[in-house]
Amino acid sequence: MFDRAILHMDLDSFFVSVERLRRPDLQGRPVIIGGHGARAVVASCSYEARMYGVRSAMPVSRARQRCPQAVVLAGDLQAYSFFSRWVCRIIKEEAPLYERASIDEFYLDLSGMDRYIGCWKWASALRRRIQEETGLPLSMGLAANKLVAKVATGEAKPHGALMIEPGRERFFLAPLAIEKIPGIGCKTAEKLHHLGVKRVAQLAAYPLEELEALFGKHGLSIWRKARGLGSSTLEPHSERKSISSEHTFDVDVADRGILHRELTRLVGKLGYLLRKKGMLASSLALKFRYADFTTLSHQQKIPYTARDELLLAYARGLFERHYKACRPLRLVGCRLAGLLRASEPLQLFDDQQREMKLLSGLDEIRDKFGRHAVRRASELGLSS
Ligand SMILES: [Mg+2]
Repeated sequence: MFDRAILHMDLDSFFVSVERLRRPDLQGRPVIIGGHGARAVVASCSYEARMYGVRSAMPVSRARQRCPQAVVLAGDLQAYSFFSRWVCRIIKEEAPLYERASIDEFYLDLSGMDRYIGCWKWASALRRRIQEETGLPLSMGLAANKLVAKVATGEAKPHGALMIEPGRERFFLAPLAIEKIPGIGCKTAEKLHHLGVKRVAQLAAYPLEELEALFGKHGLSIWRKARGLGSSTLEPHSERKSISSEHTFDVDVADRGILHRELTRLVGKLGYLLRKKGMLASSLALKFRYADFTTLSHQQKIPYTARDELLLAYARGLFERHYKACRPLRLVGCRLAGLLRASEPLQLFDDQQREMKLLSGLDEIRDKFGRHAVRRASELGLSS
């Protein structure tokens, strides 16, 4: 019997699958999402492209060399957000407890759901429903904890499902390459290779003290993972995670210029926090407290983003629609919600790359010299 039953679901090459819904002619062909700019990198690619050695985060120019016949697309976060929300809605309807781990990845806690075989049946039905309703292929793994469930999904891909029965975790992991363990990146893997450790079984058998001496706390973490140990605790309500900031004026303000400046400052601050956390926001709200203390807030869904430009554009749009002209405000606030961890490639689309680079440059300066070291011209009232 299972103590805990954790289901991990992951949409297969999610961005590519969405593109294929719109363009069925892309079915079975190598597809690269990553844009056309000189410095564009691969955000996602189809399994057909992977067979030619194309990988995420590789420069698109190199990917094109490896697979000249690939169709290269710029990517459309708005469409991907729409489908991600659709899948999430279905899971929310069905699952007792779920966590949205990224734009295309979910954990469900099915503990206590009858017997394990009952869980499996239930999970298979859910997977079928998602595929039939949205048209998106997905893979899943069922195990006693999140780590093993996620690795199981990885092994089941593409378009597969795998159940690891309790007690079998170490057997399942043992023959796998250490890189399959989440949290073992290139650098850690390289060091382990030097020690002759290539398979998970070797890592699990390695003396813990030596791993700790080499990797510090991370040593214990990867050793535990290699032994199939991991958390079964979900972070539910991730939709409700939010960050916010507000400002009370010394004297009530009705001047649009001043209000715009304050809004720009608040959004800039939140955008910075968002990027620091490595998150994307999917909802933006403004709060107005008028001189008579009437407090109103206005919320809007937005495509997943961490870009100041976009956040600011939505904030300004919301402001223009809802601010009662000439009515003095005591306080203005902004809140970003529906936060989601950014899987790295999300930040790498063509048109966004230059800005993300600029933003991370600015963020670096802010880290060094304080948040106020760099401000947008509009915050200082130098432009509109
Ligand atoms: Mg995926």
